[in-house]
Amino acid sequence: MELHIEELRSSDLKEKRLDKLSFGVDFTDRMFVMEYDKGKGWHSARITKFQNFSLSPATMAFHYGQAAFEGLKAYPRTNAKAALFRPERNLRRMNVSADRLCMPPIDEEFVLDCLKTLVRLESDWIPRGEGQSLYIRPTYVGVDPMIKVHASSKYLFFIILSPVGAYFERGFSAARILVEDEFSRAAKGGTGFTKACGNYGASLKAGEKAAKSGYDQVLWLDACDHRYVEEVGSMNIFFVIDGKLVTPALHGSILPGITRDSTITLARDLGYEVEERMVPIDEVLEGIESGRVQEVFGTGTACVISPVGVLGFKGRDYVVGDGGVGPITRRLYEELTSIQYGKAEDRFGWVHIIE
Ligand SMILES: *Cc1c(COP(=O)(O)O)cnc(C)c1O
Repeated sequence: MELHIEELRSSDLKEKRLDKLSFGVDFTDRMFVMEYDKGKGWHSARITKFQNFSLSPATMAFHYGQAAFEGLKAYPRTNAKAALFRPERNLRRMNVSADRLCMPPIDEEFVLDCLKTLVRLESDWIPRGEGQSLYIRPTYVGVDPMIKVHASSKYLFFIILSPVGAYFERGFSAARILVEDEFSRAAKGGTGFTKACGNYGASLKAGEKAAKSGYDQVLWLDACDHRYVEEVGSMNIFFVIDGKLVTPALHGSILPGITRDSTITLARDLGYEVEERMVPIDEVLEGIESGRVQEVFGTGTACVISPVGVLGFKGRDYVVGDGGVGPITRRLYEELTSIQYGKAEDRFGWVHIIE
């Protein structure tokens, strides 16, 4: 398949306001789109101006949620246009999500090339301040115009770009997280291990409940017994227990985060022991009280690493350490962001430079 690149007119170009950035509000001038039709396969790959789609009200994805997304970032570089962090992992995971939702696979290598071309064309949109980046959102939706419950025969795959500010604008600070013991995010056998769009709509209620009680995010427990820790809905979770890193094992209901994987690799390389296993919430709360749980942090593309200072559970706040940022959390954050922003050597071969 060939990639067609549309020439933009000067009237298509937006004013770049990169000084005041909130997450996911502004989009760049261009986007990537390709289409799939059963019998024909993928076709019409193109980079066009960022514009609305025209879709039937009967569009499959609106009714039955046959849709998935990804999230990654392009980081500013001084001696190149940008750097991507393990983008091949995102495209592989997109195909895992696609398979679970009965959507045909995308050609990962081709889409990675198109993504790099798009970022190269839009590199003036990459904010260059500390901790800033260009957020990349690949999205994949079933667009059959029929409301029969079925796997679509037509698909749209697109990539949009959004300049984003630093996640920790007011300094690296610890989050307050509510342990959710009523709602569930994902059950084994469901779609928890994918970035299926429906997972996120279903999680909003718990997020609102947490916000109302003064917490930043939700820590999900297993859907069956609400006994074991799963993840934070847009982040995976790590505990430092007796100096060892412990994170819930992947067993079908947790999203296998790329930052999680990178953190495990990096931590082991730095000499920390890392355990992936079932983590009972009782062990965590007792450990916080006894001091055995020394640090808690989340990992995800948006924040990279987010320290957790408080876990709220059944009306009580459990303060981790002194409620601030622990030394291992800070070290992993600095090491990982240094690789992403090119301040440290890319010793694991994670970075794709865009010249
Ligand atoms: C995207 C996401 C994460 C983090 O994954 P990364 O690949 O590290 O960005 C964690 N949990 C959920 C539910 C997610 O959607």
